[in-house]
Amino acid sequence: MNNIDHKDFEAVIGLEVHAQLLTQSKAFAPVAAQYGQAPNTQISPLCLGHPGTLPLVNENLIRYIIKMGLATNCSIAPKSIFARKNYFYPDLPKGYQISQFETPICEGGYIDIELEGYSKCIGITRIHMEEDAGKSIHDQDPYNTLVDLNRAGTPLIEIVSEPDLRTPEEAYAYLSKIKQIVQYLEICDGNMEEGSLRCDANVSVRQRGSKKFGTRTELKNMNSFRNVEKAIDFEIYRQIELIEAGGKVVQQTLLWDTIKMETRIMRSKEEAHDYRYFPEPDLPPIIVTNELLDEIKAELPELAHIRQQRFVEQYHLSVIDAITLTENRYLADFFEELVSKSGQVKASVSLVLSDVLRVLNEQSITIQDFPLSATRLAELLDLRASDKVSSTAKQTIFNAMLEQGCSAQELAEKLNLLQVSDSNYMDDLVKQVIEANPDEAARYKEGKKQLMGFFVGQVMKASKGKANPKMANELVRKYLD
Ligand code: ADP
Ligand code: MG
Repeated sequence: MNNIDHKDFEAVIGLEVHAQLLTQSKAFAPVAAQYGQAPNTQISPLCLGHPGTLPLVNENLIRYIIKMGLATNCSIAPKSIFARKNYFYPDLPKGYQISQFETPICEGGYIDIELEGYSKCIGITRIHMEEDAGKSIHDQDPYNTLVDLNRAGTPLIEIVSEPDLRTPEEAYAYLSKIKQIVQYLEICDGNMEEGSLRCDANVSVRQRGSKKFGTRTELKNMNSFRNVEKAIDFEIYRQIELIEAGGKVVQQTLLWDTIKMETRIMRSKEEAHDYRYFPEPDLPPIIVTNELLDEIKAELPELAHIRQQRFVEQYHLSVIDAITLTENRYLADFFEELVSKSGQVKASVSLVLSDVLRVLNEQSITIQDFPLSATRLAELLDLRASDKVSSTAKQTIFNAMLEQGCSAQELAEKLNLLQVSDSNYMDDLVKQVIEANPDEAARYKEGKKQLMGFFVGQVMKASKGKANPKMANELVRKYLD
């Protein structure tokens, strides 16, 4: 990636993030809003814009956006209204989307983002509700564009940031934080690749030290976190180079080309939509009472930064470990379940941070798809803690569990990995090893204690790796110290 500290310029970035809510039904119609169903099976007369139909607000739409507002320190308007955003498009049969315009329900919040070496507070201008449009499909029929209205009317929230971001890395961190919050709140699955989280980036550059913002462009069509970072980086450079060559940035909407890795023009300011917003006459104002607000506050889960602090205090973790474990809500849940089932904090931390995370990375899966339950892994930790298997064997069993799914005990038996802790057997073995190595025994007695490793090694070898090394250690000490 280029270094964006290009001479005397500084970038200014503001993000508009759309999050698709995980409600059972659509925003304003009692019909299922499930992803991935056969085209045009999740529709009702309202989604089709039939005359005479009337919208009805899904209560969870209101609850979910209030949760998001509270989690991002916004103030929640006691009264706000819906507005119609009018435009014509084949996938929008009503001819308008129900949205919010002058009175968003959440305003004036902030979130903190963490970067290497510093943290920063990013303002949230507003969060409002809206419904999604349907989908035009251009690549399935050689002659016609097809329309799927399953998505029409699914509930979205739009989170608009202040122009507080300065680098592509900050934009990435901000977006990750938004994803983390919606996942902790369980209001959106946060999947950018599937489109349940979408992001438009507004980018401008200015002379470093200048207070005035430059002219911005708006970037669309970035369907992954990395693409957002790359597109912003590309655009900052394009603008700086344009200005340095004596040109002027034109306000326009640009599309990110994921193949060519460059931005190209979608529309200019003159072509910008005039949505002719007006208050939605078919829906009453949204009144948020104090009772409702208290109820929702009580339902809020422990958010990542609070959980992170608790992990440091309760489990005595390093801040870095606590951040990694709480980054994803479900990973943190998994870890806590493992601790409570195994009673072992340290072993749980290392199992999750090194082994589980490695598998998730290698297989590109999330913790929800991890094949082993916390109960199964707790059994493995128990085997190790009671010294029935060595730490090397524990690793072998973990890998075997992934492939075979049996319990740790079964696999330890099957793979012949159970450690021998029989005291008579161990006693004999240690005596034999000492007798077979009189020189080393003498040197040990003279004070060369480093030879302990040698003796334990010999015992392990004689037992074909199955002796309990801790016991071997104790017995050598018993006979030679
Ligand atoms: P619009 O409705 O046309 O998208 P808004 O005023 O709502 O315009 O701004 C949208 C986003 O653009 C916000 O996230 C805001 O922070 C950001 N923004 C506004 N001005 C600038 C600028 N000069 N440079 C970069 N981002 C900006
Ligand atoms: Mg915009």
